[in-house]
Amino acid sequence: MHKQLETMKQLPPLSLDMRVNKLKRLAKTIKANQSKIIEAVNTDFSHRSSEESQLAEVMVCLDEIKHTLKHIKQWTKNKVWHANWKFFPSKCAISPQAKGVVGIMSPWNYPFNLVIEPLIAAIAAGNRVMIKPSEMTPNTAQLTRNLLAEVFTNDEVFVVLGDVSVADSFSRLPLDHILFTGSTQVGKIVMKNASENLVPLTLELGGKSPVIIDDNYSINRAAQSIVQGKWFNAGQTCIAPDYILINQSRQEELVAALKKYTAISYPDYEFNDDYSAIINQNHFQRLNQMLSGLAEEHIIKLGQDSTQATCRKMPPTLVITPPKDHPVMQNEIFGPILPIITVAGVDEAIDHINSQAKPLTLYLFSHSKQTIKAVREGTQSGSLAINETLVHFAQEGLPFGGIGASGMGSYHGYQGFVAMSHMKSVYYQSKINVNPMVRAPFTGLKKKILG
Ligand code: NAD
Repeated sequence: MHKQLETMKQLPPLSLDMRVNKLKRLAKTIKANQSKIIEAVNTDFSHRSSEESQLAEVMVCLDEIKHTLKHIKQWTKNKVWHANWKFFPSKCAISPQAKGVVGIMSPWNYPFNLVIEPLIAAIAAGNRVMIKPSEMTPNTAQLTRNLLAEVFTNDEVFVVLGDVSVADSFSRLPLDHILFTGSTQVGKIVMKNASENLVPLTLELGGKSPVIIDDNYSINRAAQSIVQGKWFNAGQTCIAPDYILINQSRQEELVAALKKYTAISYPDYEFNDDYSAIINQNHFQRLNQMLSGLAEEHIIKLGQDSTQATCRKMPPTLVITPPKDHPVMQNEIFGPILPIITVAGVDEAIDHINSQAKPLTLYLFSHSKQTIKAVREGTQSGSLAINETLVHFAQEGLPFGGIGASGMGSYHGYQGFVAMSHMKSVYYQSKINVNPMVRAPFTGLKKKILG
């Protein structure tokens, strides 16, 4: 790894033509290998819905490449303006420059997307890239390495496979930037390791993404959107709605609607191709364990537990008003468990959110301008998604990232290009130069001017 990094550091950034070429070839390769990508993810999960993979692993990446190719010329231009009038006619500029060699560390939940999207940004900015995919999705990691080898030479993009000890060494490399996607806990370790070499970081982390349903908002509409966003990939999504805050008087109606729309979207879950499995036995046990300590009347399973020992499909599960100190309300759920907490109104929901770690996404279902303003201005979160779940991730022009415990920095679209670039400040002194007026010795007229 070290040797490869040294080699890559000696090489120049990718030219604009090369970036465009490579991104076009990357899109072609992804298109030509869609079914292989979907199959590899399916094998790693033991079952992952093909349509979910098509949407989240393939389509979103192709859209991101398209958007990048459309704007890359504009993004890479020097932005020049006149200096402060006192220095007229000098000029200032921002000149985007590749950082050098960027490291990408990715998780298992969208194992292709979360390598490729950061890669698109890194290549758009002209960097060479080293990648460490998650060891939990080895088939996708191997396929990603093979596909990238069709587009890039080893000195342009180098994929390192291996376990946590390899990830640990990777995070200690003297890279020029690391984009890490994963848990808050590991994010702290990676940040500590990277600090040894003062490697700058973009941290895309996790946490609990709450949902507020306003008192006048249609329960049916909110429930349909939450069913889509929460059961997608069986809740193993960083921005999956983690829990719901709703007025006590509407809780029963919400539970009925969630049952209804879950039954419509997933009439069966265990033998349903549309419903994904839990990534591995450890996570399956973790999620089942999460329900322990809750009274039976608090748990509503929208399907029977599987009787097959090898099946890692977990039924969509609602948890009604769990105690606030229970693990379902303390830890990121990252699975198909959905707690519902009752509040007196939006103000109490805001107070609750402000008492917790800052979320990656905050969901609000409301048509009230006043409520939207109160939540937008009165809370902090990486993103605020109003009246729909998940789709904000798929907006290429919208920066994606967390705040506080849910991450630092952001990417996607222009923001990704900026994150992966050094936005170099340049000052051009004009031939007419008034600066001698402020050089010592400060006597006579100079003294008068400076007053
Ligand atoms: P993880 O933190 O366990 O692993 C992520 C990466 O870190 C993997 O590549 C792994 O090899 C590496 N790693 C693990 N231990 C390490 C160590 N000690 N030192 C250095 N590297 C190490 O996360 P995960 O379980 O793969 O993914 C789930 C988490 O990721 C959830 O918290 C989820 O919210 C978060 N996530 C965030 C986003 C986002 O965009 N913000 C997207 C997807 C997932």
